[in-house]
Amino acid sequence: MKVLKFGGTSVGSPERIEQLLPIIRSQAADKHLVVLSAVSGTTNNLVTVSELYEKNDVESAHKHINKLHDKYKTFVNELFKTEEGTSEALAFIDKIFDLFYQFKNKNFTSSAERVILAQGEIISTTLFHLHLKENKISSVLLSALDFMLIDADNEPNIDLIRESADREIAKFPEESLFITQGYICRNAEGEIDNLQRGGSDYTASLLGAALQVEEIQIWTDIDGFHNNDPRYVKNTKSIARLSFDEAAELSYFGAKILHPQSVFPARKYNVPVRLLDTMNTGALGTLISGETTNQNQIVAIAAKDNITAIRIQSSRMLMAYGFLRKVFEVFERYKTPIDMITTSEVAVSLTIDQTDHLSEIVKELESFAAVEIDSDQSIVCIVGDFRKSNHGYATAVSEAVKHIPIRMISYGGSENNISILVSSSHKIETLRSLHNRLF
Ligand code: ASP
Ligand code: MG
Repeated sequence: MKVLKFGGTSVGSPERIEQLLPIIRSQAADKHLVVLSAVSGTTNNLVTVSELYEKNDVESAHKHINKLHDKYKTFVNELFKTEEGTSEALAFIDKIFDLFYQFKNKNFTSSAERVILAQGEIISTTLFHLHLKENKISSVLLSALDFMLIDADNEPNIDLIRESADREIAKFPEESLFITQGYICRNAEGEIDNLQRGGSDYTASLLGAALQVEEIQIWTDIDGFHNNDPRYVKNTKSIARLSFDEAAELSYFGAKILHPQSVFPARKYNVPVRLLDTMNTGALGTLISGETTNQNQIVAIAAKDNITAIRIQSSRMLMAYGFLRKVFEVFERYKTPIDMITTSEVAVSLTIDQTDHLSEIVKELESFAAVEIDSDQSIVCIVGDFRKSNHGYATAVSEAVKHIPIRMISYGGSENNISILVSSSHKIETLRSLHNRLF
């Protein structure tokens, strides 16, 4: 069995949905499980609807729902060719939108919000299933709510997912094509929940890991990870193979090709992940597996924006123990992850990408240290084989960026990553200069 995940833009228009049929047909010999995101833009729209309900602005919520409803009616009329198919799909859409309107008299809770957010994937998978039916392709629509289960800590329970998904699939021994929703799940209380924004890749990886499939395919709009950001650098190349560790580093950066979390289940259960391009189905893409094939080389350069650097300096840090613990505890209290860290004897610099609680964090840090903030920074990360026997790369990197002011450098955190922090205004030059020097 294989898992094939298609993202929001791959199901983003009737035209794009049509283009998925040849891909599905070409794999028809094997059993496969198709995981879909919501049509692109839908989840954002549903977030807006929920926010309006929460503000008790029912009129605006309904206006917004109306607009989305119209969009889907047009979508259905374009996608379906037969009268029967069209009316079945329209009836389904109307039923979902009835649900959206109904929230008007209820107290709007977070569980109501999660019910609304879940409909994006329920719509895309149902329309896709009906579209296959109209095209005489047999498929089974499975509800992810029957097997994507998270525990009280919001962690997916792989054993329970395996058991439940196996049970649902086994009900259809003759079928080879299964369709289910990305992103949505059921929580420990049995309520509808989700795996956080962008979570459909995570669904695909969890299912692939749980069911021990041959391969997890993530279909997007680019032929895999490139060795640099094609938006800013010319002549980038798709990377044929990556190890799980390299992919974990890269997925955090760059163009949202693969949700960072989704590397971990695949790695833990050793299931290969292949990144493929719906617009260029002949391309080989990137194969991510447990094998390390990029030895003694630099594999890729990528960047992440909207980084804030914080320098924390203690007059009493010299020889002081417990200082870092105090610093980290502040970030822990505000549930703010730290990304890069560099330290000196008297100060520590670190970066964060979630700034919701920055002012509270700074206030607490200032009670025991001097604090300096630099916003609009970018982390540029160089992924490669940096085991300590492979010396010389740090020199090559620093030589490539010798004309660029650098705020932080991190080397040795893992054997796969050198990270440098620059002001975002220098990001593009940094990417280009590294590309020219390293490749
Ligand atoms: N539809 C969800 C989102 O937009 C999940 C996903 O697309 O992966 O975040
Ligand atoms: Mg995505």
